[in-house]
Amino acid sequence: MPLVIAVAVLLAATLFYILFVRPQDLPVPDPVSPTLHLDERKAAIYENLRDLQFEYRVGKLSDADYAQTKLALQKELAVVLAETERISKGLPVADRKRQILEPEVVSLKVEADPSPVICPHCNARFTTPMRFCGSCGKEMAA
Ligand SMILES: [Zn+2]
Repeated sequence: MPLVIAVAVLLAATLFYILFVRPQDLPVPDPVSPTLHLDERKAAIYENLRDLQFEYRVGKLSDADYAQTKLALQKELAVVLAETERISKGLPVADRKRQILEPEVVSLKVEADPSPVICPHCNARFTTPMRFCGSCGKEMAA
């Protein structure tokens, strides 16, 4: 029965192709820029720092609030810069979706916040109203 054998071989070859060859042939999709989300985040942090400085200067913030928020932003900035450097050196990124960055920052703000401003996008809390969320980088509702 040569036909049955031919079909069986064909099926086996097709199966093999689907299971083993195909995934290796496809290039791993890379984001446009591996540090794009970090750049956006960095820009948001700088923006928040500027706003913070301004509000402190016009007397809207207490010294303690200013110092605390500034420290939180600087800590986050340090994390983002370290991540950016790691990526630019081609070292493996522990987590492409930046989950690592989120929990520490969020919990930091939840603890020390009696009347929080909450980001509508990611629910991060802040002690002062800011134009851009320091956690997800999106614009916060005015
Ligand atoms: Zn957010």
